[in-house]
Amino acid sequence: MTLTRDFYRALEGIVGPENVSEDPVVTESYSFPIRKATMPDTNVYMPRFEAVTLPGSTGEVQAIVKLCNRNKVQYKASSTGWLYCDPVGPNCIKLDLRRMNRILEINEKGMYAAVEPYVIGAQLQAECMKRGFTCNLAGAGANCSALPLAAHAGLGHLSQSGSYSERNQLALEWVTGDGDIIGFGTLGSLGEWFCGDGPGPSLRGIIRGNTQPLGGLGVFTKAAVKLYHWPGPAAFPMEGICPQYVHPEIPSGFMIRYLSFPDIDALVEAVRRVGEAEIGFELMGFNAAMMASNIATDNDEDLAYLKQFTDHIQGPGFLLIIAANSPRDFEYKSRALQQIMEETGAWSLKDVEDPVIGAGFMWRFIRVTGSIRETSRATGWGGGTVGGTDVFPLMTRYILHTSDLKQDLIDRKLIMDDGIYPFIQSIEHGHAGHGEILIRYNPAGPDHIRNVQGMLTREANRTAIQGRFGVPHHTYSDALHDMYGPEACNYHLLLRKIKKNFDPSGSSEASLYITAKE
Ligand SMILES: Cc1cc2nc3c(=O)[nH]c(=O)nc-3n(C[C@H](O)[C@H](O)[C@H](O)COP(=O)(O)OP(=O)(O)OC[C@H]3O[C@@H](n4cnc5c(N)ncnc54)[C@H](O)[C@@H]3O)c2cc1C
Repeated sequence: MTLTRDFYRALEGIVGPENVSEDPVVTESYSFPIRKATMPDTNVYMPRFEAVTLPGSTGEVQAIVKLCNRNKVQYKASSTGWLYCDPVGPNCIKLDLRRMNRILEINEKGMYAAVEPYVIGAQLQAECMKRGFTCNLAGAGANCSALPLAAHAGLGHLSQSGSYSERNQLALEWVTGDGDIIGFGTLGSLGEWFCGDGPGPSLRGIIRGNTQPLGGLGVFTKAAVKLYHWPGPAAFPMEGICPQYVHPEIPSGFMIRYLSFPDIDALVEAVRRVGEAEIGFELMGFNAAMMASNIATDNDEDLAYLKQFTDHIQGPGFLLIIAANSPRDFEYKSRALQQIMEETGAWSLKDVEDPVIGAGFMWRFIRVTGSIRETSRATGWGGGTVGGTDVFPLMTRYILHTSDLKQDLIDRKLIMDDGIYPFIQSIEHGHAGHGEILIRYNPAGPDHIRNVQGMLTREANRTAIQGRFGVPHHTYSDALHDMYGPEACNYHLLLRKIKKNFDPSGSSEASLYITAKE
């Protein structure tokens, strides 16, 4: 289906002819080749957008949204276009927000920053560090948007001390599904960014709950995000290109360790105690395979590191970074860590204690540069399943259920043997947790990927529902919401009402959110 000439000319009129294209060379490059494996029963190949537009302002976004509503054309926005950005059917245009790339404000006193969607995490983090602050980055990478509502859940490497998107979201500018511009929180009442709630009922829960609406509820054009204290240097002390940083240094007051434990109970106890003592700047439950891929520059190196690390760990583990505010604080944090290690039977991986290797790991993990290597390095394609965000031990128990199935897939040689420990992370000093199990496929084609991922996803859904583990972050689409809703206070009926009220014509393409179907 192609767009009418009147519609296309109207698009050109809004953004200028140089900022819109329907050339298949352009539209094809926005098309993800394989349907997300978490919805294994749907088509394999994604349709192309009818056109790609590059709006440069909120006004242009609003004009496109209204044009789409009038003409029954769907649209889907993205920030950096990392994932979840595809249409599922024809008659949909793309809003690529890359021209909206300004940091609007860094407020040192109020400890927040306001950004447009194409400000990436690395850019905001670098500006913050110059001022003694840092921000949470999505674990997907520093190349992703710093807008808290762009990331899927906004969980990331710094969530131990820097929380995650649901909690970091402050005021927001939102072009609703049908084209109204709403400034909510203090943006609506005062024209300022410091609070996301009120006056009156807060809209924060409307625009995101468990997970953000993944393109299905209009367009977020500006947002403010909380900042956190950064006790480190104003710029990263190293040169070169990731992962091969040259002369990386560990600043004074910082320490990095990879700790492994005799069993999962010891790990859970250590996470609890690290949180209670508030000594962790970063605590990520990487397994040996993720550590190996973070550092490796090719597959042979990856497998060599995997063997090296696996030989020197005793069981499940996590990476911990300590960042102290003073020599006395460092002394306290080091001693607390020593005691926790002794009492939980932790081993420290010697390679990470090496000052040069450790410093490389430190900066790659603080800047969040390794997620694609960590998920897909050795086979070219990664997958797995994710839990929700809830108390750490509960999320640990949930994700451990999938370990047996992963072992079965490894034994049947359907996926790579990269160990079976899940990836479990701590959030806000242990206040919450989140778990994922990652698998890497033999590159045997889309059908193979679909089948294997399908098995894992079905098992994860069965476990989540039967075990009452809450709604996982991979719950998107009508089918999944309809499955989980009746098990969780019929939340899906409310979600549908939200969709219907803020996008009555269904123009905002919602295949990864929920549609307003009766
Ligand atoms: C290897 C890998 C690791 C990942 N790790 C994490 C992780 O640790 N934590 C996590 O939260 N997610 C993770 N993700 C999931 C997700 O891909 C990213 O959070 C997200 O895509 C980050 O990119 P972005 O912020 O630029 O958003 P995009 O990739 O541009 O968009 C993501 C979704 O949000 C919508 N969207 C984006 N911006 C806007 C906007 N301004 N207005 C309206 N809708 C918008 C898009 O339509 C899309 O559905 C990971 C993905 C991969 C592939």
